[in-house]
Amino acid sequence: MSKVLKLEKYKVYYKTFSGVVKAVDGVDLEIKRGEVVGVIGESGCGKSTMAQSLVLPKPPMFIVGGSAKLIETIELTEIDNRKRKEILLKHIALIPQYVMDALPAIKKIRTFLKDLANDKGIDHEKLIEMFTERLKLVNLPSKVLDMYPIELSGGMRQRVVIAISTLFNPDLLIADEPTSALDVVTQRYVLELFRDLVDQKIVGSLMFITHDIASIRQIADRIATMYAGKIVEVGSLETVLKSPLHPYTSMLIKSIPTIEQSYKISKLSGLAGTPPSLFNPPPGCRFHPRCPFAMDICRKEEPPLLEIEPGHFVACWLHTRR
Ligand code: SF4
Ligand code: MG
Repeated sequence: MSKVLKLEKYKVYYKTFSGVVKAVDGVDLEIKRGEVVGVIGESGCGKSTMAQSLVLPKPPMFIVGGSAKLIETIELTEIDNRKRKEILLKHIALIPQYVMDALPAIKKIRTFLKDLANDKGIDHEKLIEMFTERLKLVNLPSKVLDMYPIELSGGMRQRVVIAISTLFNPDLLIADEPTSALDVVTQRYVLELFRDLVDQKIVGSLMFITHDIASIRQIADRIATMYAGKIVEVGSLETVLKSPLHPYTSMLIKSIPTIEQSYKISKLSGLAGTPPSLFNPPPGCRFHPRCPFAMDICRKEEPPLLEIEPGHFVACWLHTRR
């Protein structure tokens, strides 16, 4: 399978008055055509920064180094904003975390699409036709075209954004916490819809970002765990859920209550501690202040992300022979 995205030592920082925030600090990750990769981690671990920076890095966010290759040909760390706009929607698209902000509130969807047609240099009637087709796919009536985003419910707005993001069949669709603001029934529908987008080859692949392991379970082929700006574990859904190797992944998995557990709240093992500040991350393994297994080496040296068994990568000294 061809690679849709390959990140190597990818770094994205923010310049702030108080210093530099190392939000994405050397990420390695591959996404192949036809797969859904779920990226999990607590808020503030760099997931949204990674997503936004791949599509359009906005100051004070800036790409510091490493490589981000899209469809094996486009080096995202080297292209300018003009080229980014050109590939946007055609090769890569983002459904942002705050979908409210994705559409201008005071423009009818039809007007938004006319502007988009101008931007993309295509006939606007043709684009409206394409959008109407997409509306069927996301199960919305065509009257949406003449509505303002503020007239739409959260779930409807989410589906309009999905319809727009998939108009040109991008190779990579990135969805950032796409279900967090939705009720449970709509969540389920949206997860099925995302899976269909990949299975029906409407999009080449999907990076699905969430802090909710339950939704990853329903949709992903592989899981990548992100902690303090780094990917610390990657593997197939089954392997990672059944036998996670990184203590942080285990903690995340144990923190989801099962049905029986929800009756025995006292037995729940929540996530102890908080993620570190990315102004000045801890030396060595960034998880060491929270890790029950931390050893001397963990406080000094950073563990590399290594393939421990076929397709299962982890960055943890517990699993690294030295
Ligand atoms: Fe814990 Fe050490 Fe592994 Fe980090 S490297 S997760 S501190 S055991
Ligand atoms: Mg986020």
